[in-house]
Amino acid sequence: MRSHDPETMSTTPLESFPPVDAWDDWMEYDAALWPRKVERKYMLVPTTCFNCEAACGLIAYVDKATMQVQRLEGNPHHPGSRGRTCAKGPATINQINDPQRILYPLKRVGPRGSGRFERTTWDEVLDTLARRIRQALLDGRRNEIMYHVGRPGEDGFMLRVLQSWGVDAHNSHTNVCSSAARLGYALWSGADRPSPDHEHAKFILLLSSHLETGHYFNPHAQRIVEGQARGARMCVIDVRLSNTASRADFWLAPWPGTEAMLLLSFVHVILKENLFNRDFLEQWVNWREFLAVKRPGAAPSFDGFLQELRAHYAFATPEAAEAECGVPAATIREVARAVGQAGTGLATHVWRNAASGNLGGWQVARCLQLLVVLTGSVGTRGGTNLNTDNKFVPAPFLKPAPQNVWNELLYPLEYPLAHHELSFLLPHFLLEGRGRLAVYFTRVYNPVWTNPDGLVWERALLDESLIGLHVALTPVWSETAQYADYVLPMGNAAERHDLMSHETHAARWISFRQPVLRVAHERAGNPTDLTWETNPGEVWEEDEFWIELSWRIDPDGALGIRKHYESPYRAGRKITIDEYYRWIFEHSVPGLPEQASRQGLTPLQYMRRFGAFLVEENAYESYLTELPANRLDGSTTGTDGTIDLDGTPIGVMAGGRPCRGFETPSRRLEFYSRTLVDWGWPQDALPGYIESHIHRARLDRDKGEYVLIPTFRLPTLIHTRSANAKWLYELSNCNPVWIHPEDAKRLGVETADLIRVNTRIGHFVNKVWVTEGVRPGVLACSHHLGRWRLFDTGGTDRWASVRVIREETSPGTVRFRRVEGIRPFRSADPDTARIWWTDGGVHQNLTFPVQPDPVSGMHCWHQSVTVARAGPDDHYGDVVVDTSKSMEVYREWLALARPAPGPGGLRRPLWLARVNRPAAETFYVGSAVRTNPLIDGR
Ligand code: SF4
Repeated sequence: MRSHDPETMSTTPLESFPPVDAWDDWMEYDAALWPRKVERKYMLVPTTCFNCEAACGLIAYVDKATMQVQRLEGNPHHPGSRGRTCAKGPATINQINDPQRILYPLKRVGPRGSGRFERTTWDEVLDTLARRIRQALLDGRRNEIMYHVGRPGEDGFMLRVLQSWGVDAHNSHTNVCSSAARLGYALWSGADRPSPDHEHAKFILLLSSHLETGHYFNPHAQRIVEGQARGARMCVIDVRLSNTASRADFWLAPWPGTEAMLLLSFVHVILKENLFNRDFLEQWVNWREFLAVKRPGAAPSFDGFLQELRAHYAFATPEAAEAECGVPAATIREVARAVGQAGTGLATHVWRNAASGNLGGWQVARCLQLLVVLTGSVGTRGGTNLNTDNKFVPAPFLKPAPQNVWNELLYPLEYPLAHHELSFLLPHFLLEGRGRLAVYFTRVYNPVWTNPDGLVWERALLDESLIGLHVALTPVWSETAQYADYVLPMGNAAERHDLMSHETHAARWISFRQPVLRVAHERAGNPTDLTWETNPGEVWEEDEFWIELSWRIDPDGALGIRKHYESPYRAGRKITIDEYYRWIFEHSVPGLPEQASRQGLTPLQYMRRFGAFLVEENAYESYLTELPANRLDGSTTGTDGTIDLDGTPIGVMAGGRPCRGFETPSRRLEFYSRTLVDWGWPQDALPGYIESHIHRARLDRDKGEYVLIPTFRLPTLIHTRSANAKWLYELSNCNPVWIHPEDAKRLGVETADLIRVNTRIGHFVNKVWVTEGVRPGVLACSHHLGRWRLFDTGGTDRWASVRVIREETSPGTVRFRRVEGIRPFRSADPDTARIWWTDGGVHQNLTFPVQPDPVSGMHCWHQSVTVARAGPDDHYGDVVVDTSKSMEVYREWLALARPAPGPGGLRRPLWLARVNRPAAETFYVGSAVRTNPLIDGR
């Protein structure tokens, strides 16, 4: 693989890809007219995929005759994806041409949830929203505004908008996704994600399915394949035989929830056989802090620490792990030795998998990272870097001050260490009377379908006393949008601007998403003022929507908002989207102005032309970065090498140099977490094993009790956002329950027979797929499918959803029953008349109660269920929920939490990251919070 070539700006050897100097006028013969050779001329315009979090580069082929997008391919100039895509990238063309997409702003005309909407104007929408938001700000009701995002698809624009309004209003989906793993990582180093250097690894250890669907799927998958081609061996720990596991040297399928124990048994072997990196541990781990507690009064010695370490993990023998996890001790030893012998070349990753399924799942990430630390593979070539070192977020002009208000609907006192907002508990909080919302934006977010306990969401969304105005920003209909007051169409990947960066490998890059037709019109000499003018219908792009809305909230600047939307190039005038990104590219991206100039382009022209920029290659071991001399003024260095300034560690002496270290209180890697001790979890201060809520001991298989793994992804779908891509639904349109042959025999079922799966609050009826690819006693069902709609028209795309009837079969018990499967239908797209699939799969999440982990706040997805053959009254696809039970389960889990305040009266440790971090004073419980921006004198 050729690396980034500064002359050609190519990052791949895709020599057959059209050269960039031909991108304004590229000829191809029309394939549909073959064998006639009919020429078609294209403009090639780069953008960024918006179909998963990986931000791969795409190139749109814009037909110069029709000025329409013909197809999308990978962008070879993108440093992360290097010209490759998965199936979902090119399927963006389906999303552009979806005949069922929302083209105009819609306003509800019937009761909420009635499905009755009419077209309205953007002016009416913007004026209504501006008036309501302005009034809430003036009334001091700042916590009544909330922006709830599913897939962000951008880095920082929206956070800036919310801070410019002075509100603590950002809510995310992260606590149903990754916050457990994030907390586990953050406690070690301050960085909340790993960035494995798969390409150069000697050993790859995955708790994920990276070759098919894992986090940063396509960019990681291609580098794993390259690493394997260079001789790396790979171990996949997954209860399910994923496609990735099938390509691994070792597939370990522990009993669900025991993964941390399995990892600790590797630790045990590595310690016992002296396979660890002594120098790295001694230099970079906060072992002295641990010893001070373990051996108070004794002089700290590293050998003493090793003694304690071995003693602490003495319990995790391979034999003990075999008994607990069900993985043979001999295999454990073999993998542990391979891990230890990888030297500093151990690349690892966990994102969702066991971390997001289990009570205490955050400890899985702590234990996995312990292996990286033991081998000294932190930030090394072939090792596992910190995400913060492989991601680049350039600053925009005029950063707003942090908001001086704290919203307890987002970060309640019960969860002081939660890594992200307690997003999936929002309706429970509202129904408990903890607050209300005047204006609630959902954006690319479908909680009724995606989150557990969707009927509690439905209840809150229907209640206008709890949610005054619900605005759904979405390219497509969803189960949640039907409960909105306004449904506002937003652009797909080829119809909007965004800036993104991700830790796909040992480098830092940015990727520019752009509205390709707007760019094509500009290249053709017909520039437009706003993106919606070249988008289908009146589909807006969000950047321009938020600029316009902010302008109308504060037309005269008295609230201190307007100045953030005034052009940095034209005093007092409203900023244009070109100016917003022009400023960033000119001022905040090192090396870009110079690179652009070498090509005879301005920085903005460069990004419009190439779509991506490599900021730094070979980004390794940034913790060794030397502190600048002025930072050391007045500092002292302790005998252990810690550099202190005014009593706060700011770095560590290493190799005679003052190094930056890690973003932790000790500036070292925190094996011992003082934070967990101080905040009520002393027993979990070290990487350890917490028994899951679905531990084997809690299940009785003779009574038909099983563990349900409901989290796995399919490579071709994207949670709830791919329903507008017909090709993807043609590929994947059912989600049977995986069941082991032993269990199938016990239940008396064969593949395609129906079973009823009972959870704490309801049940669903689905088909089974009998396979040895899952452990006995465990069921697995992909969460992507089972889209439904209540109406014939409107609601989720008809090629992806089944029509259901929602009935209350007894007080508090709601049943969704399908009345019509997926069928062909007539539309502007002739393909819709050719639809051959009928199924659509079965929805599970409605039947899951909320199960918030008391430390990380993560919803623990795995379910303890009972299973039986379907009865005579069960129909395929039935979903039944007892709504009276769901609040009961919520309160049980809530009772596990250990609320703030912590030390010093804090709501949350000051050193831990927080989304859209408010002012420091708000971190203190009971701090006086000023609530009116006019009074605040902003
Ligand atoms: S991996 Fe994600 S970002 Fe990349 S092409 Fe596929 S869906 Fe798009």
